[in-house]
Amino acid sequence: MKTKLILTTALTLMTMSSFAQTNDERIPAKGFAVYEEKGNFRPYEFTRHAVGDNDIQIEILYAGICHSDLHHVFADWGAEEYPMVPGHEIAGRVVAVGKNVTRFKVGDYAGIGCMVGSCRHCDACEQDMEQYCEEGAIMTYHGIDRYNGNEHTQGGYSDTYVVAEDFAIKIPANAEIEKVAPLLCAGITSYSPIMQAGVKRGDKVGVAGFGGLGHMGVQYAVALGAEVTVFDITDEKREDALRMGAVRYVNVNNPEELKGLDRTFDFILSTIPAKYEPVMYMKMLKLDGQFGIVGLPAFRNMPSLSVADLVFQGSRKVFGSQIGGIKETQEMLDYSVEHGIYPEVEIIKAEGAEIDKAYRNVQDGKVKFRYVIDMKTMK
Ligand code: NDP
Ligand code: ZN
Repeated sequence: MKTKLILTTALTLMTMSSFAQTNDERIPAKGFAVYEEKGNFRPYEFTRHAVGDNDIQIEILYAGICHSDLHHVFADWGAEEYPMVPGHEIAGRVVAVGKNVTRFKVGDYAGIGCMVGSCRHCDACEQDMEQYCEEGAIMTYHGIDRYNGNEHTQGGYSDTYVVAEDFAIKIPANAEIEKVAPLLCAGITSYSPIMQAGVKRGDKVGVAGFGGLGHMGVQYAVALGAEVTVFDITDEKREDALRMGAVRYVNVNNPEELKGLDRTFDFILSTIPAKYEPVMYMKMLKLDGQFGIVGLPAFRNMPSLSVADLVFQGSRKVFGSQIGGIKETQEMLDYSVEHGIYPEVEIIKAEGAEIDKAYRNVQDGKVKFRYVIDMKTMK
């Protein structure tokens, strides 16, 4: 009897201590920031808002390096604010929960992708597409969090994050945790347009740009039974594409390899982060084929598609896609873990010089296929 009482008391204490104190005390955080648009990561200490009743606090274990992080750091998409801690591919462990939290408990794995808040009541939010929130989705970094005192959000190259549980993704306990982070952006951004296009068994699918997003797109399309062709600009990843299940690899810089591909594909996904000719891919679509665009090059280098291209390649559909909503992100993550679909990652130490080197390699096309920072190694 006595033992039982002690056990119950201990359990109650454990449960109580897993609830965060809901006071206004901000939470200290540290990570790596750039202080100007040239890059160069250096240590940075800052604070995050307190754990509210509906929030969870995550100890960040791994953070992926997305090409979008490079676009932000180098101000490719317009002026940015510095210091900036990038990182919107976050996998970690829950260390505190607010008192209304129901989906997470301390010790669970949890992830964060590109956004951490939205209005929750506009048409887009009601259709589970919070990324298109009419009042603006709050981005994981370089965002202004209007629900938390207008704080400037800082990203995942850091030790901890506080997020509303509704914007956190549950990571199954059996997931290969060191590979999960990139699924939260590269995974969902390629999965969502493939689902929107209704890719099915036997479809002919092209994936243009075979990097972080592209190699996820190839894996999802192959898993759905499509016949996949990869387009990239060198020969270096030919073997990798075939190993991942593609039937063909096209080096677009070799005109011979492009011959005979007009009117071939049901769907082409472009993840290209640089200037290119979209009409070249449109011509490769069958009638009623679809061209899904997710790659977002620097504004100064933006590819364009003319009205004439659309008319002369008529009956093909072109659409853009931005990440995916929270519900779809959870669906993608569960699907990926269940089917063993993960990014190929190179894990690096949480050191400024290591992150700088990784950025140079992404720029020079030397990454296979995603750098992931082991945040536990931060000193
Ligand atoms: P990566 O750098 O990992 O991959 C890009 C790949 O495209 C590389 O293999 C690169 O080759 C290849 N490439 C470059 N130029 C061409 C070209 N002209 N034709 C074919 N392939 C080319 O980038 P990510 O996958 O991380 O990101 C890709 C893009 O998607 C970025 O612009 C990013 O900002 C955007 N993005 C968009 C999101 C959205 O919501 N829509 C979300 C996340 C990212 P090489 O390596 O040899 O240079
Ligand atoms: Zn990203």
